[in-house]
Amino acid sequence: MNAPLPASALPSVQASDLAALPLIEKWISFASVSRDSNLPIIDWTQNYLEALGIECSRTYDDSGLKANLWATLPADNGETKIGGLVLSGHTDVVPVDGQPWDTDPFVAQVIGDRLYGRGVTDMKSYGATALLIVPELLKRKLKRPLHLAFSYDEEVGCIGVRRLIVEMLAQGFKPAGCIVGEPTGMQVVVAHKGKHAYKTSVRGFEAHSSLTPQGVNAVEIACEFVAHLKSMHRALVQDGPFDPIYDVPHTTIHAGVIHGGTALNIIPRDCDVTWEIRHHHMNSPEALFAQAKAFADSLLPAMQAVAAETAITHKLNSVLPGFATDADSEIARLCFTCAGSDRNSGAGKVSFGTEAALFHQAGVPTIVCGPGHIAQAHQPNEWIELSQLAWCERFLRRLADQVCVN
Ligand SMILES: [Zn+2]
Repeated sequence: MNAPLPASALPSVQASDLAALPLIEKWISFASVSRDSNLPIIDWTQNYLEALGIECSRTYDDSGLKANLWATLPADNGETKIGGLVLSGHTDVVPVDGQPWDTDPFVAQVIGDRLYGRGVTDMKSYGATALLIVPELLKRKLKRPLHLAFSYDEEVGCIGVRRLIVEMLAQGFKPAGCIVGEPTGMQVVVAHKGKHAYKTSVRGFEAHSSLTPQGVNAVEIACEFVAHLKSMHRALVQDGPFDPIYDVPHTTIHAGVIHGGTALNIIPRDCDVTWEIRHHHMNSPEALFAQAKAFADSLLPAMQAVAAETAITHKLNSVLPGFATDADSEIARLCFTCAGSDRNSGAGKVSFGTEAALFHQAGVPTIVCGPGHIAQAHQPNEWIELSQLAWCERFLRRLADQVCVN
């Protein structure tokens, strides 16, 4: 086993030092924006793996234009189902439309000590580096199976991986751990927040704007509701509960979109608010939602005194669970060893959601650890430091050693 190497000791890295660079460049060349088919990158990747003799399987979306890929390297004793690790990442990227790019986003380019391109950080470098170690592993004896899981439509709500996980469980796979390579700067992340997204719809009562007592103004009611969400948010900022390991140490509530009204001289009938709760494990999103709903309900008697058909309704649009893995768990210890970081100071928690929560929910202990930083994700001129790519290569090679000796 290699000795841990602290990040501060990383030597400066040249493009020629990076064995994974051609594979990363290949993956970047597929413009696999979530709204489009990801089949070209999946086809290429499946061909690459099958040429090495690895069995692959797919799960598709309803259109058949998007697919997840699951591939298994069996253990030396033939075991494929029980134990082992999953290396997981998404193949889709966010759009580049309207962003001022200085290079072609789908042609990865090294400039100085950085690699530029859409997805270099979020998150094609990890998946492509995992492909690099596959032929190296095939020359050795694996003590446990290793799985690759590549998904579609992560960027639009972690949609694809849900089908992959259903199929993984249905086929009887019981991996002992999963490492999702979203950008954490190669920090071992043991938890992230969950997210509940809602749409609240106010149905008011239209009238001429000169006759305000005869109407129910949906825009104004919605604004009162949003102001209440903001007061709940302020209470969380001020009073917690706090988990200081998170970058944002408290649960947050945020209204992102509001639509209402048609003309200044009409008291608006409808107004919709889309909003979210991003919670850590010390807050229940259900309890916070109940608090918001109780406030909305308190507005109803005055509304309905004017017009009985007025209402405020709420729809839960999406749920991404949070997750928390014990920093002393086997998978966390393995990642600390391979990343060369100290588990006492090194465990991170992040506010952004990932597919990790869904693997965790399926009973697979999961860690998020990948190259690059979330601040560069989704940006024009998305970049990653070459040293992060080198760190990722070293991490996955050490992991390969562990799969072979343990
Ligand atoms: Zn991502």
